[in-house]
Amino acid sequence: MIDPEYEVVIGLEVHTELKTKTKIFCSCSTEFGQEPNSHVCPGCLGMPGVLPVLNKKVVEFAIKAGLALNCNIEEFSKFDRKHYFYPDLPASYQISQLDQPICLKGYLDIDADGVSKRIGINRIHMEEDASKLVHGGETISSSFYSLVDYNRGGSPLLEIVSEPDMRSPKEARDYLEKLKAILEYTEVSDCKMEEGSLRCDANVSIMPKGSKVFGTRVEIKNLNSFRAMERALEYEIQRQIEAVEDGEPLYQETRTWDETKGVTLAMRSKEEASDYRYFPDPDLVPVIVSREWVEEVQRNLPELPQARKERLISEYGLPEYDASIITASKGLADYFDACVKLYPEAKTVSNWLMGDLIRLLNAEEQDIKECAVTPEMLINMLKLIDQGTISGRIAKTVFEEMFKTGKNPEVVIEEKGLVQISDQSAIDAMVDQVLADNPKSVEDYQAGKERAMGFLVGQVMKMSKGKANPGMVNELLKEKLK
Ligand SMILES: [Zn+2]
Repeated sequence: MIDPEYEVVIGLEVHTELKTKTKIFCSCSTEFGQEPNSHVCPGCLGMPGVLPVLNKKVVEFAIKAGLALNCNIEEFSKFDRKHYFYPDLPASYQISQLDQPICLKGYLDIDADGVSKRIGINRIHMEEDASKLVHGGETISSSFYSLVDYNRGGSPLLEIVSEPDMRSPKEARDYLEKLKAILEYTEVSDCKMEEGSLRCDANVSIMPKGSKVFGTRVEIKNLNSFRAMERALEYEIQRQIEAVEDGEPLYQETRTWDETKGVTLAMRSKEEASDYRYFPDPDLVPVIVSREWVEEVQRNLPELPQARKERLISEYGLPEYDASIITASKGLADYFDACVKLYPEAKTVSNWLMGDLIRLLNAEEQDIKECAVTPEMLINMLKLIDQGTISGRIAKTVFEEMFKTGKNPEVVIEEKGLVQISDQSAIDAMVDQVLADNPKSVEDYQAGKERAMGFLVGQVMKMSKGKANPGMVNELLKEKLK
């Protein structure tokens, strides 16, 4: 809980790796998880005398992301060299965009306690990624050596810089979730935080409530999950408030989030732009984007999360809550659309997706794209419920087995002997047995206690190991208790 005497100011810088086949300034592959240093050439290794050539797809993706985030697409932008010395950067400068980026002045709407709030986007620029260091030990300071993998070096990135418009860690999280969804829907990035294709740095400061002057700003790095970002911000806000209360100075610095200890740690004092000795890259011509090109990208822009959410509500009558959850991930929304094409009961589909499917995906830390149950298989199962072959309760067991094994529902039902019992005489016998075993409940029901009926149905279902047709059990019980 944040001290109500203070106001929190948060801005996010998000780096997203673009899903192009090749790197931004050479033709090396960007494929993830390859043999170290197998996707390199003199260009991305920073050898002198090699000229960079801009990948047109990178510009197209930048325009696409910019339009989806309501930015102005600049007709003229240019690349600059940002200098720093570190083994992950063989040329000792990173090609980036400083004062004339490709996109300016956009926005993104988030949910702030049920109210829509507009978060400004200051800019989006294109740049190349640095390489990856692999430390010999657990941490950099406990390692005897570090290895460099140049495969990632020169991969295309977009840096999306928000305005300092967020006022709580929760708002920051919602912004990042919405941003991730938009980048996924536009298919410019696969946004896998665990593989580093979506990375986030947060700038955070505090000020007395009602003040117009921002406090000393701290940048937090190494936030590689939504949870890490929220926790790191909560910790850092508390740290800053305590420092101010104790009369201790705050420094403008860069801190890193230590996930295990749950603390932010000072890394270095914050660099100014002048520390990087930026200058325009003389090897690259400016980027000129024609209006026609922007219009063409605009025409081909896919349906975005907000529009899709509204469509699910109007077209299928889904409650807003369901539509929000399903459209938060493009994969899930595509899955839903594929299901309702085969089966018109949209709410039933949505219940299965939001319940069992999401629960199992989370438990296995699986992406919907890796899910063994295809929309066709789920729908087959729903039809088997409708036909009375299995009960809704048994379907949960069937679904879990389908999820684990990728087998069709018919096969699972056959193998596990889960076919619903709809044989009148079999159910009749179980009902009689339950009535004989529970005279007290029978008495209660006949005395007008409706709840006793639920108990008796439950006993028959239990006796049949969930396989009795619940409709028939209900009917038979009612008849016998008349
Ligand atoms: Zn290369």
